[in-house]
Amino acid sequence: MPRKRTKDKVELANKVRSGWEILKDRLGEVESYNREYIEFLTRVKTEREAVAYCRECARRDKGLILIENRGKMIAVCRKGSVPLTNGVRIIAAHIDSPRLDLKANPLYEDVDFAMLKTHYYGGIKKYQWLARPLALHGVLVKEDGSIVSVVIGEDANDPCFTIEDLLPHLAANAQYSKKLSDAFQAEKLNIIIGSRPDLEVKDNKVKEHVLRLLHETYGIVEQDFVSADLEIVPAGPAREVGIDRSMVGSYGQDDRVCSWAAFAAVRDLKHAVHTSIALLVDKEEIGSEGNTGAKSRFIEEILWELAGRFKEEIIPSRVLFRSKAISGDANGGLDPDYPEVHEKSNAARVGYGVCITKFTGARGKVGASEANAEYMAAMRSYLNRNSIPWQTGELGKVDEGGGGTVAKYLAEYGMDVVDMGPALLSMHSPFELSSKVDTFSTYLAYRTFLEEV
Ligand SMILES: [Zn+2]
Repeated sequence: MPRKRTKDKVELANKVRSGWEILKDRLGEVESYNREYIEFLTRVKTEREAVAYCRECARRDKGLILIENRGKMIAVCRKGSVPLTNGVRIIAAHIDSPRLDLKANPLYEDVDFAMLKTHYYGGIKKYQWLARPLALHGVLVKEDGSIVSVVIGEDANDPCFTIEDLLPHLAANAQYSKKLSDAFQAEKLNIIIGSRPDLEVKDNKVKEHVLRLLHETYGIVEQDFVSADLEIVPAGPAREVGIDRSMVGSYGQDDRVCSWAAFAAVRDLKHAVHTSIALLVDKEEIGSEGNTGAKSRFIEEILWELAGRFKEEIIPSRVLFRSKAISGDANGGLDPDYPEVHEKSNAARVGYGVCITKFTGARGKVGASEANAEYMAAMRSYLNRNSIPWQTGELGKVDEGGGGTVAKYLAEYGMDVVDMGPALLSMHSPFELSSKVDTFSTYLAYRTFLEEV
């Protein structure tokens, strides 16, 4: 919401302006940014694929330094003109998204269907995953350490998978009369993977047929599922939405909308005072745990690595204390069908630019990292100065729910950090919705932060 400042008139009220109005002379840039973003969303559906895609995009740029953690977390860095001891600039975003993971022993046969057992990952509404085309992405690692990568269900000629749903005629007792949380159970989220029997075998004919096909195509055996990261995700490409093509619809925009913007910001940076880091983390959707999540202290490893390359002596904790960061994460936009969950004057609106969230958490800011007033002032100052559409937001009205981001794991090091990302509709669903001006505003906000703050 950049203010118009004329010599004789100060605008007293905080008037929010649409991103479409502020960016009306930059629509060509909005379109070309979103074309790249849609391609990223279509090609990348897992954290491993996000890392590989960034690696590929960065290949020819000698100024980019890539530091990876187990293929599921990556730092994309560019050297600044001052030493690391002056602090660095970090934009952190996550590359994992809610999905269904396969269990360690997933394959079974029931009533002549071969099925895969799943365990959902992150916050999903289970009913949204039924009766729709699904794809399988991931890796299996064989006993000898060799990796088999699979993507099945994305190409138009591929088969896809699905979870069946009960017909309405018979759903009265099993679904309609129950609470939503009881009507759809996690142990019923089973993937149908085949139905044709192997006529040569005696028992488990359909399962045996699937195993034979898997072995012929991928050289894998059933025990290989034990050492695998296999994810079931919605099949199909990201799309433009609306007769005016003003929106992007896709799985995984939380938080690839911010992780792509962070990557592109560091990639496109011409020169910056401080060393810039796009820190793309895994495991945010399950609490940032694990050796590839934000709690893994990988940020310290990144600094050791950069110091080695720059031939600098550093103490990572001091560098981090002097650093500034944006925690890039998607926010829930003001919902046209459920406005009652928001407090309208503080809800982020789709189409009004990147959203700054001073604090997250729930029930009295519990679990939040709150940005201080000074840092908020620095943010609005550079956004206004550069006419970047922005707004403030909170995740629902007080005591309605809430959520957290990786901000607090960066704040643990004592650096300044604030949440900043676009507002989405249908967040955490198989088809999340963003506005093209918001995705572009997020990119502009990140790049300019690296250049000016
Ligand atoms: Zn998120």
